[in-house]
Amino acid sequence: MSTPSNDPTALFRQLPGVDEVLRMAKVGQLAARTGREELTGLVRRALDGLRREIADGGVDAAGLAERLAGDAVAARVEALFLADRKKGVRPAINATGVVLHTGLGRAPVHPEAAARMARVAAGYCILEVDRASGKRNRRDDRLSELLQRLTGCEAGIAVNNNAAAVFLALNTFAAGGECIVSRGELVEIGGSFRVPDVMTRAGVALREVGTTNRTRAADYREAIGDATGLLLKVHTSNFRVVGFTEEVAMDELAALGAERGLPTCFDLGSGLFECEGATPLDMLGGETVVRDAVASGLDVVTFSGDKLFGGPQAGFLVGKRARIEALRKNPMYRALRLDKTALAGLEATLELLVDGRGDELPTRRMLLATAAELKPAAERLAERLDVLPGLRAEAIPERSQPGSGSAPHVYLDTWAVRVQHAARSAEALARHLRMGEPPVFTRIADDFVLCDPRTLLDEHDEDHLVDAFAAVCRAAEA
Ligand SMILES: *Cc1c(COP(=O)(O)O)cnc(C)c1O
Repeated sequence: MSTPSNDPTALFRQLPGVDEVLRMAKVGQLAARTGREELTGLVRRALDGLRREIADGGVDAAGLAERLAGDAVAARVEALFLADRKKGVRPAINATGVVLHTGLGRAPVHPEAAARMARVAAGYCILEVDRASGKRNRRDDRLSELLQRLTGCEAGIAVNNNAAAVFLALNTFAAGGECIVSRGELVEIGGSFRVPDVMTRAGVALREVGTTNRTRAADYREAIGDATGLLLKVHTSNFRVVGFTEEVAMDELAALGAERGLPTCFDLGSGLFECEGATPLDMLGGETVVRDAVASGLDVVTFSGDKLFGGPQAGFLVGKRARIEALRKNPMYRALRLDKTALAGLEATLELLVDGRGDELPTRRMLLATAAELKPAAERLAERLDVLPGLRAEAIPERSQPGSGSAPHVYLDTWAVRVQHAARSAEALARHLRMGEPPVFTRIADDFVLCDPRTLLDEHDEDHLVDAFAAVCRAAEA
């Protein structure tokens, strides 16, 4: 039997009103940090939370008195305010060792690219105007110029992402008709990019040829008919067919297209660049280089901006001038085009490559780091973590992954720090690290938390990581 004062109705009556809470000094201080309406909403949510606790029978009179005492209600309001401010797209620390982590925003751009993006975002910029004449011009002329130099293409454009690039190519060349593609390349890329679905939405009928493991140029040739609008090849980014396999070579497909007057397109996915000043990424085990795909004679080659290229999110289309012009004339190009920020970031990244500074790009630097180079960082980190109360940390040889479907079979030798807490499971530890500020993402293996220094950008990241562990240890001791 509940005593009268523990009766929910009686407890509800003790809750302060919204205005009453808004008049509290500590809540008033929050008004300087957020709008009045926002604050009222936070107060309502705080009171709703208390009401729910009462309704669930989780609080008695004494418990409620505690929750209403002093600044306790104001503290709840502030906690909700702070929790909201932690939501959304915010900087995080990647200690997973996965270089192109889609959940963590794929490629970190070069600081110079980031700075240019920030400057054009915060102000006006030359986007679609010619300086000399003052007349309107095209926003991607410079981009095209840089792409020509780096990939040997005749022209290039960029759209929102590679999915959009493939969509644009399909829609431009094969809408109302057919696109021929190998059965072995009908892939689904993480995050719901399914080649057959994109085709349907682009208004294109899919004509599958060959078998899962073997497709020859002859298969494409035999399938060509009046309805054929495009011959497509897709990089099987996130899986690999091994054993008895055969795929159509780029130059064979290009030759077939040229012979029949049909456009050819290769969705490369990642888009690897090789140029002076950029050490070849041989560890990726023979990824197709964009320049080689272009040189093979294919009409259009598409790839992402934020995978191996190491720039902001975008999808490139490079190739023959007439084909690129056709893509540009499609009204969908206008709907898929890039904003000034992404364009500035892509141009800055391309300029670094042109200037022979490719190895400075964070993604390339991280991929190129050898286990021997990472070992001292892992050992230093292990030393700093091992002295924290309740933690055991040691550096161990491990393996990292490129990520984002780039070379799925490739693992990079690394040195990681294996961490265990005396009183916390690995899951709990990892969760606490994610919920901290800044959030830290790690890997879990065999009830250990693994921190891979490969994806730490600088010593600030390392300091934040150590601070994050220190905060977990303090919380565990409290
Ligand atoms: C990653 C990938 C895509 C999708 O690219 P986004 O830039 O993420 O849109 C399409 N095709 C292939 C082969 C890919 O690897």
